[in-house]
Amino acid sequence: KLELRGVQKRFRGADVLRGLDLSVDNGDMVCLIGASGSGKSTLLRCINLLDPIDDGEIRLDGQDISAPELDPQPVRQRIGLVFQSFNLFPHMTAEENVMLAPRRIKRQGREALRPEIAALFARFGLDDRMGHYPDQLSGGQQQRVAIIRALAMRPEIMLFDEITSALDPELVGEVLDVLRQLKSEGMTMVMATHEMSFAREVADKVCFLSDGHILEQGPPAQLFERPEHARTAAFLRAVL
Ligand code: ATP
Ligand code: MG
Repeated sequence: KLELRGVQKRFRGADVLRGLDLSVDNGDMVCLIGASGSGKSTLLRCINLLDPIDDGEIRLDGQDISAPELDPQPVRQRIGLVFQSFNLFPHMTAEENVMLAPRRIKRQGREALRPEIAALFARFGLDDRMGHYPDQLSGGQQQRVAIIRALAMRPEIMLFDEITSALDPELVGEVLDVLRQLKSEGMTMVMATHEMSFAREVADKVCFLSDGHILEQGPPAQLFERPEHARTAAFLRAVL
């Protein structure tokens, strides 16, 4: 279970997160929606400890992972983060990209890791692409490799930041299918997205960010059909 309480984040005096509370139950898919600049990416980066928070706390299964004295590295291994830009190394095959972090962290060789990595590729229908370089893969395939790379660290929770935004429309579906599969396997996920129909279908909870906090949250049926706040309603009118 992931719990954020009173999380504040400032960039050079500008308040981006203003005392944000969020709770994510194990196995849940939580979608973050909100206008550009509302703080979705910042929130995900703070959860992953890429950005230190200025106040509040972030708890993962009860442990305060935001404590400044804590080494962020082992915590980051428990939390996978996938970005809009896939950031695969172009001079490495898909398999080498996926193996990079496990090899370094677990100090295991390629051969020892291969069965587990191959099983991951097979699980997401990419076993015939392991030896391909990124430029030999479609955008959708590259993004699926980026997701596999994060899963190779066996994270307890996965964060996704607009992972379909850079894709051609016909490639969006295959990436969203990966998320559906992860959901059915019980993965805990937090996702910033503009894919409202996906959020409506798959999310357990949708959170509307505005002015650095969660203005409104609830099951998708409630948030999309009966928003309580005028600002949520106005945002939904603009994007739906
Ligand atoms: P989008 O939908 O466009 O991705 P977002 O909701 O992800 O937007 P953020 O990227 O989290 O929004 O940005 C929130 C605010 O924080 C913005 O005003 C942005 O300019 C500011 N911000 C984000 N990162 C930094 C940084 N490294 N330095 C200074 N300001 C930043
Ligand atoms: Mg963003």
